[in-house]
Amino acid sequence: MKNIDVLIFTAHPDDAEIGIGGTIAKLTSGGFSVGIIDLTEGELGTRGNAITRAAEAKAAAEILNITLRENLSFPDGNVRPSQEYVAKVVSKIRQYKPQIIIAPYFNDRHPDHIGAGKIVKEAMFFSGLPKFETFENGKLQEAYRPRKLFYFMMTYLFDPTFIIDVTDTIETKMKAIRAFKSQFHDPESDEPETFISHPEFLKNIEARARHFGFQIGKTYGEPFFCEEKIEFDFGWILNKPV
Ligand SMILES: [Zn+2]
Repeated sequence: MKNIDVLIFTAHPDDAEIGIGGTIAKLTSGGFSVGIIDLTEGELGTRGNAITRAAEAKAAAEILNITLRENLSFPDGNVRPSQEYVAKVVSKIRQYKPQIIIAPYFNDRHPDHIGAGKIVKEAMFFSGLPKFETFENGKLQEAYRPRKLFYFMMTYLFDPTFIIDVTDTIETKMKAIRAFKSQFHDPESDEPETFISHPEFLKNIEARARHFGFQIGKTYGEPFFCEEKIEFDFGWILNKPV
């Protein structure tokens, strides 16, 4: 497979759709290749199970038109930085050579989201070191470091470094989220109610997108955080090279 432009690492199937489904749809409709690698199968989730969630993840991937979706099958509820987990993420970065990688913001309500953000940050660094050895099909992989690591918002807020206008793709995002039928509100389900299956949850997702859209003068937006400073070019606003 050829290189992926943007590679997203998440803790659970549905994290990427909830956090940045609109950005993903915008990128793929613009011709960029996007991959999602879920670190766990979400088997600890109160509703559904690993099998239903895998089928739902596949359906959501088709709606978002992404190029690849893989699962590293780390144990759900135990996503914490370790040499083994960091090496597995490094191996995926070296395999797909993305320009940009994206992970959950490293302070959140769910410890696995925190862990995923930390693992990916470590992997971003070690992936660029030739002496940090990883193998693909028994063959030593080349060192490679993506250009940028961005974080997306799950439950806890952060002050965004930048916001992506997702006005044109919000409907695709909501459709991709609803593909995870077992996780969200379903009047016919008799599974226990959870934080995200409450009927208000999907409205909150939309309200958050409206809030961040408003911040940039658009209808809907998705916030991102970057620990590094981002270079700015006046030409982006003046619409000619400066
Ligand atoms: Zn999650």
